Amino acid sequence: PAAEFDLKAHIRGIPDFPKPGILFYDISTLLRNGPAWKAAMSRMAGKIRPYRPTMLAGIESRGFLLAAPLALELGLGFVMLRKPRKLPGETIGYDYELEYGTDRLEMQADAVTAADRVVVLDDLLATGGTMAASIQLLRKAGATVPAAGAMVELTFLNGRQRLDVPVETLVAYD
Ligand code: IMP
Repeated sequence: PAAEFDLKAHIRGIPDFPKPGILFYDISTLLRNGPAWKAAMSRMAGKIRPYRPTMLAGIESRGFLLAAPLALELGLGFVMLRKPRKLPGETIGYDYELEYGTDRLEMQADAVTAADRVVVLDDLLATGGTMAASIQLLRKAGATVPAAGAMVELTFLNGRQRLDVPVETLVAYD
């Protein structure tokens, strides 16, 4: 059963990527393994379901790899939060601070309604800046965000303390 699957055994740390001194947690090895990916998604589905979402949002691009299969499993719609200028039609954007400079996420303006409860998903929670911006963007578009989710959490960066919603994660590194 899913609960017995050791997900950490399927996630690898790659040193000095994308910059020297950074240990990058890579979920590619999990995605390559059918049973491991399925077990991870089943576990995440169980954590997300109690929040009664009406839709799931994924953060470009690895967040799509959680949000889309989870939406299918839960029978929900899926919305993409994307880097600037990727989406056609009217969009809503949210700018946020990075360590150096700023970044921006966009979504289609008509993607959600005030009746939607949208759980937002990414592969990994580090400082929480990306997740915080995603939550603000979804609220700007009118939705309620009952929770956020990520497969991996880097607990030493205290990302969840930056968020005003509960965060569901599957594995933590400190
Ligand atoms: P944060 O905004 O500092 O929480 O960084 C999280 C974002 O950066 C997410 O979109 C992740 O995909 C990406 N990210 C940061 N560190 C890693 C890592 O070690 N592995 C994979 N993605 C990472």
